[in-house]
Amino acid sequence: MVQALRDDLSRRFGEDFRVIGGSSAAAGLAALRRMADEGRQVALVIAGHGMSEMPGTEFLARAYEMHPLAKRVLLVERDYSARSPIVQAMTLGQADYHLTKPWVLEQDLYREISGFLAEWAKDQHVGFDLFQVIGGLQDRGTHELQELLTRFGEPYRFHDAGSEQGRLLLKDKDLDASQLPVVIRHDGYTMVRPTPTQLIEAAGGTVCSEISECDVVIVGAGPAGLAAAVYAASEGLQTVVLEETVSGGQAGNSPMIRNYPGFPHGISGHDLTRRACEQAWMFGAHMVFSQRAAGLEYRGGERTVELAGGGQITARAVIVATGIAWRRLGVPRLEALVGAGVFYGAAGSETRAMQDRGVHVVGAGNSAGQAALHLARHARQVTMLVRGDSLARTMSDYLIREIMATGNITVRLHTAVTDGRGDEHLEMLTLYDKLDDRAEQVPAAALFVLIGGEPRTQWLPDTVQLERGYILTGRDVIRDGSHPSRWPLDRAPLPLETSVPGVFAVGDTRHRSIKRVASAVGDGATAVRLVQEYLTAEGIG
Ligand SMILES: Cc1cc2nc3c(=O)[nH]c(=O)nc-3n(C[C@H](O)[C@H](O)[C@H](O)COP(=O)(O)OP(=O)(O)OC[C@H]3O[C@@H](n4cnc5c(N)ncnc54)[C@H](O)[C@@H]3O)c2cc1C
Repeated sequence: MVQALRDDLSRRFGEDFRVIGGSSAAAGLAALRRMADEGRQVALVIAGHGMSEMPGTEFLARAYEMHPLAKRVLLVERDYSARSPIVQAMTLGQADYHLTKPWVLEQDLYREISGFLAEWAKDQHVGFDLFQVIGGLQDRGTHELQELLTRFGEPYRFHDAGSEQGRLLLKDKDLDASQLPVVIRHDGYTMVRPTPTQLIEAAGGTVCSEISECDVVIVGAGPAGLAAAVYAASEGLQTVVLEETVSGGQAGNSPMIRNYPGFPHGISGHDLTRRACEQAWMFGAHMVFSQRAAGLEYRGGERTVELAGGGQITARAVIVATGIAWRRLGVPRLEALVGAGVFYGAAGSETRAMQDRGVHVVGAGNSAGQAALHLARHARQVTMLVRGDSLARTMSDYLIREIMATGNITVRLHTAVTDGRGDEHLEMLTLYDKLDDRAEQVPAAALFVLIGGEPRTQWLPDTVQLERGYILTGRDVIRDGSHPSRWPLDRAPLPLETSVPGVFAVGDTRHRSIKRVASAVGDGATAVRLVQEYLTAEGIG
């Protein structure tokens, strides 16, 4: 089997990769050790589950210690029952992918392996850089630009302004370290301290709507807004999507979404939402980035969305998909260090920089759990700070099990972050243990805060009924006089319709929403059907 696999893979990938087949687990581990000692990179480690000397998962765990960035593949028998070893291995994070044997078609094997290698290459940052970013390692402005490029999916390379390469790049453009951050596009176009809008434009994004009237305006380009855009544009509705930053929403921050149907090994939230964004654009949706909706008016049967940058768009229907924003810690000294060691969200661009450091994650939900697991691949030690006395109430069981099985993650229960300090960058945290009533200072290279969110509905008028900030829709809309802004029509609101006729709300921002990617996508797709129903009933379809 090893020989056959090696021959098959060598035929297809031998030009770019060395394919090594070990005759035993010991020989395989020895080869991996040699490569680690020689500083050579390993892209994939494939281990059979039923090796005689040790279970495949143990082999992969040992390989991981030597080559933490290699993708781990477990080779299993064709067994689609819940007993298959891959079910447990994926749940406990012991493997990244699986292959089933015997593989029937070589093409299928090649397609799978190509996908695994592409993911590895992406993680290695192999390939062409569209942008060079020159700035300070601990500078907040530089961090924000990097974050934006990461979220927009633009490959870039960061150079510390003090490094040799950084100095050379600045000198070449007649610039110096007083003008940071500097961004240089692959064709030489250079931006000094660019605004997000300038950077998005330079990356090819549209930041200004050429349309002032359309069928449907969608506000927000997270999973819900993007799904609505795909369906609205594909149904032939003239569609404008307004997004405050770039597409992706919270999901764009998720390193790995494992519960989205159709991706058995999971998919990065960034990849998923980038594909949806391209799909909407290809159906003809007008995607407008760096444009915040600042107001909504409903007058004479018309809905007008006001833009924060000035201007407005009138639409026959509006879909609000503005999701939620991270809840803040509310510790002034830590707020001052945001971007300089303190990060809201999983901060994709920062994760790799955590190599060999001790980092902390605040939060007890699924997003905090995922961030901790992702960070554990790079950081020396990850400490989860949890206010409550268990993770079980707030986190999915599969994540808890994976966290418990990861050696370099520690969970500190009944612990709150009360303060922190650092000159230019986070250095120390003050942690308060509620049970012992004791505060303690600990060194910290970074703090990732994932403590849930608040709905982003502050921009909506009073006529849109809210419950604790979340938008009421359908049956929940209050129709009698008990609410100051009562529903104005005789008919009942459609499902997902807000208290303003023709304005729909989808995804996390909606009262009673499920707060998952697939449910947000379902909302978005459903809303388009309801928009069509609404337009037909109103005689404007
Ligand atoms: C780190 C992390 C990991 C997660 N992992 C998973 C997972 O594994 N599985 C899962 O099912 N769910 C997961 N979730 C939850 C999931 O991401 C959300 O449920 C989903 O993204 C909600 O989609 P949405 O489109 O409703 O809102 P959001 O994703 O919040 O998107 C809203 C968008 O609207 C934009 N916006 C806001 N206000 C305005 C305005 N006024 N004008 C213009 N644009 C505006 C925002 O910039 C944002 O892009 C995770 C969440 C996080 C944070």
